Amino acid sequence: MAKSGGKGFLEIDREEVPKRPVKERVKDYNEVYESPTEEYGEKQAKRCMDCGTPFCNYSCPLGNLCPEWHSFVRKNDWEKALKLLHKTNNFPDFTGRLCPALCEGGCVLGIDDNAVATQNIELAISEKGWEEGWIKPRPPKVRTDKQVAVVGSGPAGLAAAQQLNRQGHNVTVYERDSKPGGMLSYGIPDFKIDKSVVARRVNQLKEEGVEFVLNTEIGTDLLATELEREYDAVVLAGGSRKARDLPVYGRELDGIHYAMDYLTQQNKRVAGKDISEDEVINAEGKRVIVIGGGDTGSDCVGTAIRQGAEKVYQIELLEKPPTERAANNPWPQYPQTLKTSSSHQEAESLVDTNDDELNVRDWSVLTKKFSGNDDGQVEKYHAARVEWVADENGEQEMKEIENSEFSLAVDLVILAIGFVHPEHEGMIEELDLELDERKNVKANDYQTSRDKFFAAGDMRRGASLIVRAINEGREVAKTVNKYLNK
Ligand SMILES: Cc1cc2nc3c(=O)[nH]c(=O)nc-3n(C[C@H](O)[C@H](O)[C@H](O)COP(=O)(O)OP(=O)(O)OC[C@H]3O[C@@H](n4cnc5c(N)ncnc54)[C@H](O)[C@@H]3O)c2cc1C
Repeated sequence: MAKSGGKGFLEIDREEVPKRPVKERVKDYNEVYESPTEEYGEKQAKRCMDCGTPFCNYSCPLGNLCPEWHSFVRKNDWEKALKLLHKTNNFPDFTGRLCPALCEGGCVLGIDDNAVATQNIELAISEKGWEEGWIKPRPPKVRTDKQVAVVGSGPAGLAAAQQLNRQGHNVTVYERDSKPGGMLSYGIPDFKIDKSVVARRVNQLKEEGVEFVLNTEIGTDLLATELEREYDAVVLAGGSRKARDLPVYGRELDGIHYAMDYLTQQNKRVAGKDISEDEVINAEGKRVIVIGGGDTGSDCVGTAIRQGAEKVYQIELLEKPPTERAANNPWPQYPQTLKTSSSHQEAESLVDTNDDELNVRDWSVLTKKFSGNDDGQVEKYHAARVEWVADENGEQEMKEIENSEFSLAVDLVILAIGFVHPEHEGMIEELDLELDERKNVKANDYQTSRDKFFAAGDMRRGASLIVRAINEGREVAKTVNKYLNK
């Protein structure tokens, strides 16, 4: 029998929540992972060492109290574990599914063993919370007379709205899309997060008294200065949506699209929306190249596989990450190692690229140009191999390898090379807000350069992670609450 409370790791190995078999899951857009069971959570929580100095807690932007909830799970007191989880995180059902688990990067056990499966345990706790009916609306007991507008309903906006509403203020969320959730609803594929998971949280907020005004873009449909007149404070949480482009020869050809356009369209299709003929982006029967080696690119790979692509390649300019931590990336830093997502697994097991110039996943590849046919449709991808070498200051420098040029027949190209900053047209320009050196909205302690206006999430810090957006939402709420109580 495994001992409870600190030594379980001696007898129990780390296990991950099982994924549905590849051949089955690529036929649909349902979540890839099975739901973690109670037994799974209890067993894995026994591996937590109850460290005196828990680096998991320090590594998590939310300061999640991981050892404490593991301890309640071990004692089979799931309701207390959930209470503790909600103390630092409004939406553990989002992070339990989607977080890269910075906490696990800092897990002390990870120094010479596999880290505790904290993210999966978090998901087990939050799902049990929903099943048992422990997650209920918590409306404030007393209302203030303050009116707050939140622009944007991604994780930052939702967290800010929930916190401010629970402090008693009257909160209205404005969203330009027809559904709340930000990238959780439009961008992140359904096979990573089922949209009912977002909807049940939005319902919780509604039942707590938060109002949602959808299909309304602030700065165009409704001026931000109107909000300034009507509200006591305004939180800007509009995300970082200006996609990075790849300005090479042939970029304007048909069949080259941004990842967000591609992924959002598939979210809408899954939700039953018809896509007009001239807007359709579909990988069915096509040779697809995804440019950009990150998570967004991986989401495009999983989507293309489900649409029935003939070939899928994901390429990256940087070199292939190591499988073990490099010497300059020691614990407790987040390990910058090779990650294999569920989508990569699918592509690697279903797509044969044996005779091709590229592997399913390839690194150190520099895109040179695209060429197309007489109708303006992309037909070929042209690239060269590069190597990364350290210069005299130790900085990595890219060098093209001589005679390494190659080209590959493609029908669809997806650009997944990140976002440069928030969209400035509309709201930000109307308010004439000061920007930081990366062109995000400048907001020290969440206060922008304009009185009454605060900023949080990707709009303030640049494209990042859900866990950071939730943290920004919680922190901006503290600043706004202080401002309203002045
Ligand atoms: C494809 C993809 C996959 C990702 N996967 C992960 C992952 O697995 N794990 C992870 O941690 N992170 C992931 N991320 C990053 C994560 O989604 C973002 O960091 C996070 O959503 C940022 O939250 P936010 O609330 O700041 O902004 P967003 O989620 O971008 O939400 C901003 C909202 O504001 C609305 N809006 C903008 N301007 C206006 C306006 N003027 N008026 C009204 N509404 C407006 C937008 O429509 C949007 O709904 C992914 C990102 C992408 C693109």
